[in-house]
Amino acid sequence: MGEEVVSKNFIEQEIDKDLREGVYDNVCTRFPPEPNGYLHIGHAKSILLNYGLAKKYGGKFHLRFDDTNPMKEDMEFVESIKADVQWLGAEYGEHLYFASDYFDIMYECAVKLIKKGKAYVCDLSPEEIRQYRGTLTEPGKNSPYRDRSVEENLALFEAMKNGEYKDGEKVLRAKIDMASPNINMRDPIIYRVAHMTHHNTGDKWCIYPMYDFAHPIEDAVEKITHSICTLEFEDHRPLYDWVVRECEFDPAPRQIEFAKLYLTNVVTGKRYIKKLVQEGIVDGWDDPRLVSIAALRRRGFTPESIKMFVEMCGVSKSQSSVDYAMLEYCIREDLKMKRPRMMAVLDPIKLVIDNYPEGEREYLDVANNLENEELGMRQLPFERELYIEREDFMIEPPKKYFRLFPGNEVRLMHAYFVKCVSYETDEEGNVTVVHATYDPETKAGSGFTGRKVKGTIHWVPASCAQKAEVRLYENLIDEEKGVYNKEDGSLNLNPHSLEIRKNCYVEPSFQDAKAYDSFQFVRNGYFCIDARDSEPDALVFNRIVSLKSSFKLPK
Ligand code: ATP
Ligand code: MG
Repeated sequence: MGEEVVSKNFIEQEIDKDLREGVYDNVCTRFPPEPNGYLHIGHAKSILLNYGLAKKYGGKFHLRFDDTNPMKEDMEFVESIKADVQWLGAEYGEHLYFASDYFDIMYECAVKLIKKGKAYVCDLSPEEIRQYRGTLTEPGKNSPYRDRSVEENLALFEAMKNGEYKDGEKVLRAKIDMASPNINMRDPIIYRVAHMTHHNTGDKWCIYPMYDFAHPIEDAVEKITHSICTLEFEDHRPLYDWVVRECEFDPAPRQIEFAKLYLTNVVTGKRYIKKLVQEGIVDGWDDPRLVSIAALRRRGFTPESIKMFVEMCGVSKSQSSVDYAMLEYCIREDLKMKRPRMMAVLDPIKLVIDNYPEGEREYLDVANNLENEELGMRQLPFERELYIEREDFMIEPPKKYFRLFPGNEVRLMHAYFVKCVSYETDEEGNVTVVHATYDPETKAGSGFTGRKVKGTIHWVPASCAQKAEVRLYENLIDEEKGVYNKEDGSLNLNPHSLEIRKNCYVEPSFQDAKAYDSFQFVRNGYFCIDARDSEPDALVFNRIVSLKSSFKLPK
């Protein structure tokens, strides 16, 4: 038997090694969002990576809200994040945690450090602390409060907890090494005084732990084995390990860093998205032009397509940007076989088939997806008056234009050959109606081989087509200029990022369509029922992606 060759990413290789060497006998990962905004495509990578690893190794996956910073958190974000994680399919089951549930443990850890002579209360002002810290090239200076006795530190820390000091008056610092080449190790602050109400613990606390102290404790308490985070935390790892060691947690979680996912010409920063929302440039955090998970879902992306995308991006240690076109490639690939192919006319003009009897209607049997029989068939009404796309008719066609023009014959998709015989115009010369005749011999599926035509166009029956609003999207960012304005740091917005077409017609086959359902509209792309604005009798569709792509699969 040949051995299966599976290429593993560097994190999997590290996990394999840890399991082999007996460092851990299981795998437990977590996704630790701060509930201060909506999740975006970058977070999706982290979620799917952590969940995927837990699954692959038969381990556990935790969702933990990192709500140690009472100022910024918001319950609305907690709910949206839970919904996004579930939608992506990362099941956390009963493993939902809040860092604020560990405030007591964190306090005990701090007391333990004080007792070991590894932490002290410092009275320097924030500005002085900064000055004493030194720089990348110069070592820091010891705080004059560094050598307080254990008893004095215990008493002061308790007084901090009891609300005897104002914000910023005192901090608790780890006693490590003010001369360390790693600035994070120069007696970092681990607790601060902040008289703020916390959404979970209310007014119980007026001291709050700093991220670098809280995070390793959260991981350790939950018995996380591999704490996977992004590269900016690489320099914090020695401190992470110090906290776990000095607080005497066993087994110790292990931090592993990977490169953040960046998409070219896309806004992911919470600060910028907030501004776009507040200024009404986009219609909320789930505006389909954004790449928050809620926005991607509303636009019509599927969890499967995002998973495919994240897998294609891979996991690495080097920073790079991925082209948005790759995400589009993934959604096309995902929907291609799964979704029905319908007809919709986005810029209608009328086509009248002069020799088709007035008032008559026939039903054509049409496959929902020619490449996937399982999607079944539907019946499509065909009649004398239809709508076709305005651009599928020209009075004076250029060379190689094979669609309708006077005297030319085309195939109406799923129906008959029609030949253009004349057209009508309004006073300004705009075409209003195209006239044609059909040949009953040429019915689709009849096996007609008499002659060939070069063009096939789509259509909808005029009397029973359903009117719909269609929203066409372009990148929110002006791609020529890049995301940020060089002069003032503002966003370079594309004024044409949203085009609303209110006068579209879709074939009468959408009776059962519900929010988030998606379809291919032949020749026009993939579309999705807008979850916010669509009504059964006033359909609104978002274009997820067009059919054509400039994206080439990397080898
Ligand atoms: P942002 O800076 O975009 O607002 P954040 O890092 O502040 O995001 P957190 O809630 O702190 O958001 O992040 C939760 C987790 O998601 C962290 O483990 C973080 O490393 C990870 N993460 C955030 N952005 C990305 C990204 N672009 N690619 C991969 N992982 C990311
Ligand atoms: Mg953050």
